[in-house]
Amino acid sequence: MSKPICYSTKAYSATGATAPLGPTSIERRQPTPTDVQIQIQYCGVCHSDLHFARNEWGFTQYPAVPGHEIVGKVTAIGSGVKKFKVGETVGVGCLIDSCRTCPNCRSGLEQYCDLGMAGGTYGGTDKYFGTPTLGGYAQSIVVTEDFVLRIPANLDLAATAPLLCAGITTYSPLRHWKVGPGHTVGIVGLGGLGHMGVKFAKAFGAHVVLFTTSPGKAADAKRLGAHEVVVSTDAAQMAARAGTCDFILDAVSAAHDLNAYLNLLKRDGHMVLVGAPPEPAPVASFPLIMRRRSLSGSLIGGLPETQEMLDFCGQHGITCDIEMIRMDGINTAYERMLKSDVKYRFVIDLATLT
Ligand code: NAP
Ligand code: ZN
Ligand code: ZN
Repeated sequence: MSKPICYSTKAYSATGATAPLGPTSIERRQPTPTDVQIQIQYCGVCHSDLHFARNEWGFTQYPAVPGHEIVGKVTAIGSGVKKFKVGETVGVGCLIDSCRTCPNCRSGLEQYCDLGMAGGTYGGTDKYFGTPTLGGYAQSIVVTEDFVLRIPANLDLAATAPLLCAGITTYSPLRHWKVGPGHTVGIVGLGGLGHMGVKFAKAFGAHVVLFTTSPGKAADAKRLGAHEVVVSTDAAQMAARAGTCDFILDAVSAAHDLNAYLNLLKRDGHMVLVGAPPEPAPVASFPLIMRRRSLSGSLIGGLPETQEMLDFCGQHGITCDIEMIRMDGINTAYERMLKSDVKYRFVIDLATLT
């Protein structure tokens, strides 16, 4: 494949696992015939950005530019682009490409492409340059039109950005396991993902119980849609919930005891991990075998379902609860995220990257 012409754009990168993020300039390709060039207005801050910038998963190549909750305006399109026009507001999530031919891609489940996460918005492999892909902590990005999403016009744009990861990552498993009326659903962790899990589970008609290590978040959890709040560090509160949940979505970013949550499931209940702490978690046999419970995982969502989720949010007026930050506030934001001190997603205003 011939290499397209490039242009420079300002960005924020990490140069090593212990280095703070700082300003840099990166190269993007000029749009090829199928590409959309986007001026990024807002980018959400996912805990995955932090895991990645600090090489906690062990595959980061530096310099690393995180960011996969991207919204902005189309500034140019390739000659063959049909779905988007210059000036339109669009979004880009965790995927910017996939093989398009494997069974998973053909089913609209590009996140499970047989090529793995090669098409990741950051940490993937740029198919034109062979170098690591660079994410949305930047002024602009160029993405093939098939991986660009339409944003409902009625939603606040900054508060829509985190739907591109936190939104779809919680929407997808709740839909896949058909969570709805009559189900008691536990959401574990009220962070970026967890607060969207609460909103979607409520919107789908379930009885929502939030499990949190932060008693101070109880009032917010109820405002966001939880019917009940359980402080997970309180053994008596946890014991009282044994065997009561049909489904649990675990959105915790750090090591924790999975068995304590498996015990909360009813017979045949499902617990799904979306949180991705770097450390392996021991799972005991008994909580699973005693009630035929199951433990699964789920990765973001494919392009068709991500569009479905955005449209659902447009119809139901659902956005994220955000705290806007300047680009140069990113390192402080990471430190606060590690202390579970986010209400409930940081969003970078890219106009501050000058
Ligand atoms: P976040 O905003 O930092 O929220 C994580 C929450 O987990 C915290 O707010 C806290 O909630 C809880 N928590 C933190 N440390 C804990 C501990 N030691 N024990 C128990 N609970 C703890 O993170 P996020 O952006 O939502 O991401 C959560 C995880 O999902 C990360 O590991 C991220 O990489 C992963 N992720 C996975 C996917 C996927 O496709 N599967 C997509 C995006 C992100 P409380 O204060 O309520 O306890
Ligand atoms: Zn993410
Ligand atoms: Zn594929």
